[in-house]
Amino acid sequence: MKIAVDFSPAQSHNYAVHIDALERLSFSGKVAIVTNPKVAGLHLKTLLGHIEAKELYIITVPDGETHKTLANVEYIIENLLNHRFDRNATLIAFGGGVVGDMVGFAAAIFQRGIKFIQIPTTLLSQVDASVGGKTGVNNRFGKNLVGAFHQPSAVYCESAFLATLPSREFGAGVAEIIKMAVTFDAEFFAFLEKNNLHETSHLQNAVARSIAIKANVVAQDEREAGVRAVLNYGHTFGHVIENETGYGRFLHGEAVAIGMRMANALARKLGYIGDEEEERISTLLRSYGLHFSYPVANPEAFYQAFFLDKKSLDATIAFILPKGIGNYTIVKDAPKETVLEVLQEFDR
Ligand code: NAD
Ligand code: MG
Repeated sequence: MKIAVDFSPAQSHNYAVHIDALERLSFSGKVAIVTNPKVAGLHLKTLLGHIEAKELYIITVPDGETHKTLANVEYIIENLLNHRFDRNATLIAFGGGVVGDMVGFAAAIFQRGIKFIQIPTTLLSQVDASVGGKTGVNNRFGKNLVGAFHQPSAVYCESAFLATLPSREFGAGVAEIIKMAVTFDAEFFAFLEKNNLHETSHLQNAVARSIAIKANVVAQDEREAGVRAVLNYGHTFGHVIENETGYGRFLHGEAVAIGMRMANALARKLGYIGDEEEERISTLLRSYGLHFSYPVANPEAFYQAFFLDKKSLDATIAFILPKGIGNYTIVKDAPKETVLEVLQEFDR
């Protein structure tokens, strides 16, 4: 399967996402695969079987979100310079979103930009992080505060790599899949209700449809001036939850799943969805273990935290809400009392 990410008329950075179609990758220039010890131990041998290059290097960075740093980007770049990489070189990001974001950023700034290929090995990075060209790192001020837009030259999503993924990581990826179905595609949502993604053929299908949705969105709005913001459904609430829980209790996708249920409650109160639609989304989330309890301890503090989010520095919060299933609305004037009601009632 192949999905085009088509930025016409700016076709210079069009690329394709290949699903379960990794055959032989041949390179004339130097190549570095950047990965972490966990992914390397599980799958590097398989990947190497697909790569043909005169000069190939493996660069390993430590595993985990706390290692998505400028220091590790510099470590990657120093490796490249040590091996005399030039502008014809290619980087291959082999791992989850952490590796993908960091390698993408290294590729964006090395010699003012070289090619890179994404080979995402988590479900979340296959359906979300690897497509769209957002790259970057965290620092002590927050997540993804330093980065660049730099599109990959190709993306290869292999379902075989997902076989070793821990079930919570799988669920976190499913949350982002459900997010895309709820806001953009009613038929896809119905597909998800009917078909269990633990079966490979259904998973392939869902990965392809999610990527097609994301590709279409980013091709219209690469820099998030409009429709790309819809991908933040569940995230406005989810970011506050991640913050309140110190980024330790929930995986990102799990916090987003709670955030979607909060957004749904707000959408219901504002008349954009009915009880039955709200229940359908909750049921689907529950079937992947994504129905967490989160009684909000201090609704006022939760509300104030929206304004600390870097994406809403101005005085209004844009809530991305479902409008029925398969459509969305962006609400900038949600009454504070209604939002507080949602937070007060949530999970009680
Ligand atoms: P991750 O990269 O930390 O991977 C999660 C864990 O799974 C890690 O321990 C990893 O080593 C392990 N792992 C990876 N592949 C595996 C496999 N096949 N089998 C077993 N274990 C495996 O996390 P993630 O959820 O993939 O990505 C999260 C990151 O992605 C965040 O930093 C987030 O900011 C970023 N992100 C970026 C975008 C974007 O548009 N650029 C979008 C969404 C998320
Ligand atoms: Mg997300």
